[in-house]
Amino acid sequence: MRARAKLAVVHTAPPTLAARIAARAYHPVYRPGEVNRCPGCGHGHWWVGRSTAECAFCAAIVPIASDGEPLPMQDARA
Ligand SMILES: [Zn+2]
Repeated sequence: MRARAKLAVVHTAPPTLAARIAARAYHPVYRPGEVNRCPGCGHGHWWVGRSTAECAFCAAIVPIASDGEPLPMQDARA
């Protein structure tokens, strides 16, 4: 009797966006409407742009968290 090779095919789904975000290291963001402290110097004054905010003291730049909401200066109809 002839031996048959056994082959197992395992399909794994790619990691979800939530899993990829959870796997990242510390990721500071600017949250509109909240008190935001600079991750570089701790001050709370910002120049807020369309997609990033810049610390007025040390010029650290962080992205603005949107959670699907329109960002400042972004057209809500788009
Ligand atoms: Zn700063």
